[in-house]
Amino acid sequence: MADPKGFLNHGREIAQTRPVEERVKDWNEVYQPGSLLPIISKQASRCMDCGIPFCHNGCPLGNLIPEWNDYAYREDWTEASERLHATNNFPEFTGRLCPAPCEAACVLGINQQPVTIKNVEVSIIDKAWDAGDVTPQPPERLSGKTVAVIGSGPAGLAAAQQLTRAGHTVAVYERADRIGGLLRYGIPEFKMEKRHINRRIEQMRAEGTKFRTEVEIGRDIDAAKLRKRYDAVVIAAGATTSRDLPVPGRELNGVHFAMEYLPLANKVQEGDLTVSPITAEGKHVVVIGGGDTGADCVGTAHRQGALSVTQLEIMPKPGEERTAGQPWPTFPMLYKVTSAHEEGGERVYSVSTTHFEGDEDGNVQWLHLVEVEFKDGKPEQKPGTERRIPAQLVTLAMGFTGTDQQNGLVEQFGLELDARGNVARDADFATNVPGVYVAGDAGRGQSLIVWAIAEGRSAARGVDRFLTGASALPAPIKPTDRALTV
Ligand SMILES: Cc1cc2nc3c(=O)[nH]c(=O)nc-3n(C[C@H](O)[C@H](O)[C@H](O)COP(=O)(O)OP(=O)(O)OC[C@H]3O[C@@H](n4cnc5c(N)ncnc54)[C@H](O)[C@@H]3O)c2cc1C
Ligand code: SF4
Repeated sequence: MADPKGFLNHGREIAQTRPVEERVKDWNEVYQPGSLLPIISKQASRCMDCGIPFCHNGCPLGNLIPEWNDYAYREDWTEASERLHATNNFPEFTGRLCPAPCEAACVLGINQQPVTIKNVEVSIIDKAWDAGDVTPQPPERLSGKTVAVIGSGPAGLAAAQQLTRAGHTVAVYERADRIGGLLRYGIPEFKMEKRHINRRIEQMRAEGTKFRTEVEIGRDIDAAKLRKRYDAVVIAAGATTSRDLPVPGRELNGVHFAMEYLPLANKVQEGDLTVSPITAEGKHVVVIGGGDTGADCVGTAHRQGALSVTQLEIMPKPGEERTAGQPWPTFPMLYKVTSAHEEGGERVYSVSTTHFEGDEDGNVQWLHLVEVEFKDGKPEQKPGTERRIPAQLVTLAMGFTGTDQQNGLVEQFGLELDARGNVARDADFATNVPGVYVAGDAGRGQSLIVWAIAEGRSAARGVDRFLTGASALPAPIKPTDRALTV
């Protein structure tokens, strides 16, 4: 513990964001460049190096938080980066995008504001990249074994990097035209600039991982062929089937899944399109769903020049303080103001959409809703509360129901699913098919980047053991882990 009085002398400070009027005019990350570094050593000094660091359990990766806080306090960025990478392949992703369940579990959080763990994490990794400390780590010798990874989101990338470094020859198959999964085409540029993915891919290529884009397993290559060609397979195909809203008017023009809307906006930023074919410009926009995906639609609509943005949520507005049912150190479901919400728009809680109304050309114009209250866990409509709001673009951001089954992936491999429709696996992340493993949202259901990386690392250990009989790779989690977190 570098500074025993750090938490007494310094209050919590977090990364500053750029002024709203400036940042909604561009797509760059919302953070004020250079604002973090001057404060980060003091912030790291607030870590108490507790006897039992609950933050370790709060973080699905088991990040060694007090250790790298100490190095960050001493401004020994090289050692800090080494400790950070010991448990996390991609801290530049989590340091920007993680909801930081570690901070909810920070012991200081019992009676003070917790340590700004996520901001320390991103400072360490950004410094490491700037200093040239993030270099390829190719294996010393090759095992002669081959692995196919299906899907290039954070789970697939983590599994591929671990297995490549363990000496196996790994090819990542991705049906999209670029690598990254939801990091690339779900999450908007203003939350994480894609250059962070690109430089990791370069590192992985230099280590020996092969990438094959625009190849859909099940359609372009069938499962039998893949199994014949590779000694093991990791399915990291995500949970990409969007939950629909089958109400009258769903078929009108202008009603889209969030994951039809967001990838197009990202493709404009990649330079593939000049204007998105689905744009909020000059429109009243309604986003259905109050989670992260919904917030990303809100921020995207602001930047495209929406007339108004309304976000609907069927659940009641969450509280701002922990309740008895969500005590420290659990991850509480609290009211969250994301950067997109700071930028404007209205949030409406406890409402349900009854139908959409269009004009004579079949374009959506109005969304009809009704207030609801929950009785015995089920929403009940409140009579007399029906109303309509203008809606010329509607995005459905109500979550995902599981991995894509349209392409034959599940059927061709003969994969068993669990009760929630995710690919079933055992304690080693192995499916019912010998040599076929599953990691990330495909096995867990829709979740978080930090869990996807933890799953990818853990599944890699299972695969390594299957291929060689033993493994020195770490396995941060079991498939059933929920730990203290989301
Ligand atoms: C809009 C949005 C915003 C989010 N924001 C956050 C956030 O801020 N913080 C956070 O922690 N989490 C966030 N999440 C959740 C997070 O992105 C996911 O939990 C995470 O990406 C899951 O990783 P994964 O590797 O399992 O799957 P994915 O990232 O979904 O990647 C799966 C990949 O597999 C590919 N694929 C599927 N089937 C095949 C096939 N048959 N052949 C070849 N390729 C295939 C897909 O094209 C995709 O690229 C967000 C999710 C969404 C949708
Ligand atoms: S990955 Fe997430 S939970 Fe883990 S230390 Fe970083 S911010 Fe915290």
